[in-house]
Amino acid sequence: MTSKAKVVEIREKYAQERDRRLRPDGINQYAYLDGAIDPYVTGPRRRAPLFDDVDVVIIGGGISGISLGAELRKQGVKRIRVIDRAGDFGGTWYWNRYPGAQCDVESYIYLPLLDDTGYIPSLKYAYQEEILAYLQSLARHFDLYDDACFQTDVDLLEWDENAASWIVTTSQGDRMRAKYVALSGGFLQLPKIPNVSGVEAFRGPVFHTSRWDYGFTGGGPGIDGQGLPKLADKKVAVIGTGATGLQCVPPLGRHAQQLYVFQRTPSVVLERNNRETDPTWAERLEPGWQKRRMDNFTQITSGMPVDEDLVDDMWTHIFGPITLAYAKYWRGGAQETSEAAELLDFEYMDRARRRVESAVERAEVAEALKPYYPFLCKRPGFHDEYLPTFNRSNVTLIDTVESGGIERITENAVVVDGIAYEVDCVIFATGFDTGRNYLHALGMDVIGRDGERLSDRFEDGMQTYHGYATDGYPNLFFQGLTQTGGTHNFTHTLVEQAKHIAYVIGAAQARGIEALEPTAEAVQDWVNTINTSALQGRVEFLAACTPGYYNAEGDAKNANRFAAGSYAGGAVRFFGMLEEWRREGALEGFQARYSTGAAEDASADATSAFHA
Ligand code: NDP
Repeated sequence: MTSKAKVVEIREKYAQERDRRLRPDGINQYAYLDGAIDPYVTGPRRRAPLFDDVDVVIIGGGISGISLGAELRKQGVKRIRVIDRAGDFGGTWYWNRYPGAQCDVESYIYLPLLDDTGYIPSLKYAYQEEILAYLQSLARHFDLYDDACFQTDVDLLEWDENAASWIVTTSQGDRMRAKYVALSGGFLQLPKIPNVSGVEAFRGPVFHTSRWDYGFTGGGPGIDGQGLPKLADKKVAVIGTGATGLQCVPPLGRHAQQLYVFQRTPSVVLERNNRETDPTWAERLEPGWQKRRMDNFTQITSGMPVDEDLVDDMWTHIFGPITLAYAKYWRGGAQETSEAAELLDFEYMDRARRRVESAVERAEVAEALKPYYPFLCKRPGFHDEYLPTFNRSNVTLIDTVESGGIERITENAVVVDGIAYEVDCVIFATGFDTGRNYLHALGMDVIGRDGERLSDRFEDGMQTYHGYATDGYPNLFFQGLTQTGGTHNFTHTLVEQAKHIAYVIGAAQARGIEALEPTAEAVQDWVNTINTSALQGRVEFLAACTPGYYNAEGDAKNANRFAAGSYAGGAVRFFGMLEEWRREGALEGFQARYSTGAAEDASADATSAFHA
């Protein structure tokens, strides 16, 4: 077969598989759980309301918020208040403590600020308990606990123009003030479940993987779920086979009497090859090692060739060549370039399918576990025990593709294609809210300088200056993946944003600025830069993909889709650009209002672009 004919054949097969999964209701097929439900808190849930003033409120105590708090400390900022709906620091690692929960990205580049603390993770891919303990130790190290408010949902931020500060109202009755606010609440945090009937009627426990019910299952997090002893006589349903499903299925399979795994789209499951940290390697690390390693990983996985592969894992081995091949096409290459990329992609996907064949004994089960879509359509998984779990006699794979997912739930069963699978417990590994307004998952709103609501402003997508601020909302900053330098190592983006936002706040304080925001022109210019970049070819690519959260369930043009509008020049170049911007010190693109008596000093530091 010629390569052209091969490409046509691949495209047809992938299009057929996509069409079997496309649903007219798109992102509306999901319902959202109350994000504040917290099974992990044991103490009191109410506290006395606060009416005080702080310098900075950071909404979100995960990797984003902790990194920002740390960078603000380095800038000398005193009163920093982290607010989180969780009962402690940790963000995603606070919530996601399901059995087997593990960092998918190498922990030496995923755990933030290792260079600052000198901590070295024990494994190349650390487990949840170690990550959570490290994040909480970071919060202690940077003295973020004293003013922190947990079990607190921010409801509203209102800008008070006269006082040049934000009024923050919360679910605990607080009405506090902050000079600056950062929205650092994460982007995969509001749990979602399929909008099917019967969930309320189910008689046993029903929970999302990010709200694990250890009271019912016994055990705890860690590689084996600490044995999950209470499941020995239980039938369990787990719905969803994304990165989370992949990690919790092996311990569930080992310990439940019977496990039904309800799958709609198989994940790509690549080798994990986890190993303990080599102490000799760790001893030889030199200052600045983590940034170099992060940069190296991000460059490779965004298709930029480098001389050395420091992380040297399945991310770099596969994402590097495939992204490089597609990037040429996305940047406006010839049609043949796309075909070359598709052939390479097919080769890697075929390797993933052969891995299924060699790991899974029953041919029909293996066939159902094979993924048929282009590699970059969905987030791959990495696991060495997931596929062999389907060789166990107590584990059954239920393919739900023909019914578009699970059909309904009854008082004692999950139903697919009219067949009721009786179970004692239903676990949703169905992911998190994406594809909606930035404020949706945060469950709050912001009223800006002119009385406009940020949810209205961002209704058709975020409009930002470099991804972290917008006009009309002074002293307000965002951390996230939109209109910024995107990478598969989210921590990399978040720590760079933290450094940058902390710099802006530090500079404003040092120069006697009381309010600053980007100009409307600067925001528009940046939005244009993002929108007209040649990487929009990626949007076409995603439109042809099998549905999932990358393409807002088949709606790739959704402006609120996950990580919409990455900087086309690549994340490392983007971070370099921000570094240069900081070095220039002009706060270019911002307009500022000075506190009385400060203007003279401030203008000595700033260029004319700085003044409104
Ligand atoms: P995902 O959104 O990735 O996966 C959800 C799963 O639920 C998919 O398999 C989906 O199938 C399935 N599903 C949804 N609706 C139905 C239905 N009606 N019937 C049957 N199946 C259904 O969520 P995850 O929790 O797996 O991952 C969330 C995020 O967390 C991802 O970004 C992931 O990469 C990240 N993560 C990161 C880890 C790390 O180590 N850094 C570890 C674990 C997760 P379909 O594909 O057909 O929609």
